[in-house]
Amino acid sequence: MSKALGLLSGGLDSTLAAMVLKRQGVEVSGIVFVTPFFGAERARKAARQIDIPLLVENIGEEHLAMLKNPRYGYGKNLNPCIDCHAMMFALAGRRVLAGEFDFLFSGEVLGQRPMSQNFNALQAVAKHSGCPQLILRPLSARLLPVTGMEEQGLVDRERLLDIQGRSRRRQEDLAREWGLGEYPASGGGCLLTEKSFTPRLRDLLTHQPECTVTDVELLKLGRQYRLSPRAKLTLGRNKVNNDALQALGGGERVLVRAGSFAGPTGVVSGAPTAEDLELAAALVAAFGKGREQAQVMVRLTRGEDTWELDVTPLAEEVSQRLIIP
Ligand code: SF4
Repeated sequence: MSKALGLLSGGLDSTLAAMVLKRQGVEVSGIVFVTPFFGAERARKAARQIDIPLLVENIGEEHLAMLKNPRYGYGKNLNPCIDCHAMMFALAGRRVLAGEFDFLFSGEVLGQRPMSQNFNALQAVAKHSGCPQLILRPLSARLLPVTGMEEQGLVDRERLLDIQGRSRRRQEDLAREWGLGEYPASGGGCLLTEKSFTPRLRDLLTHQPECTVTDVELLKLGRQYRLSPRAKLTLGRNKVNNDALQALGGGERVLVRAGSFAGPTGVVSGAPTAEDLELAAALVAAFGKGREQAQVMVRLTRGEDTWELDVTPLAEEVSQRLIIP
């Protein structure tokens, strides 16, 4: 029996691709990668549903390095899908080369996405992965050149599929036929494809090209303010945000907390000057009970050092100008 490792996002296509192989007797496992932009939850659910083992790998740092300068550029938002898929295949391919599996597969469908899943894009993904000879796309395989896996008899080409295009009808019919009761709607699951997330990420990559995974995690919390080209403030909207910010405020980042009043927590990242920190303190002071007072005390912490600043809460029209949508 041949052994295949599939990129399992947990969406319908990758789940069906796994089932196509499983139904012809291939021993199937899934692998899912975790970054600040996407997680493993949907894949875990899908793997449970179709009863296959799932490997989970965190690739936050290397994925971010790729995101800063993708060879094939971005899609509609800041989604570097061709490079991202190629990277996932390359990482999964190491396990094939180490002898754990015979080949890789994915749920890519020819022509489903105009930019990242046309014929040339599929070829680019395979080439850039460094292991094109190991990749099978079971949902569209019969429309693609015959692979080594088919020639060697590891899979039966006759039992692979010939799906193409943007319609989801055949996938939905198969899901019904094969008893897949629940599956997520197409799209979603990756912050990089979300229009609302793009301005925040673009601002970070533009002003702080050396940004880290923690800087990206900050983008997911509360309000974002650009203090200067060098520094930004992330400000909590509620207790959950404030607690999360408290945890992310270590290292060189500066934690900014309401001192003499009940108010939010903020984190300044980048390379702030004294003026930037004063502005951040005035912003923190402009929320919660601080905005009702002429002057309040704000507490700042960087590493082991904590100091206090007395500031006037920033006027709303000024804070509005600093906000990153
Ligand atoms: S949608 Fe997100 S996870 Fe999927 S290939 Fe594109 S960037 Fe990667």
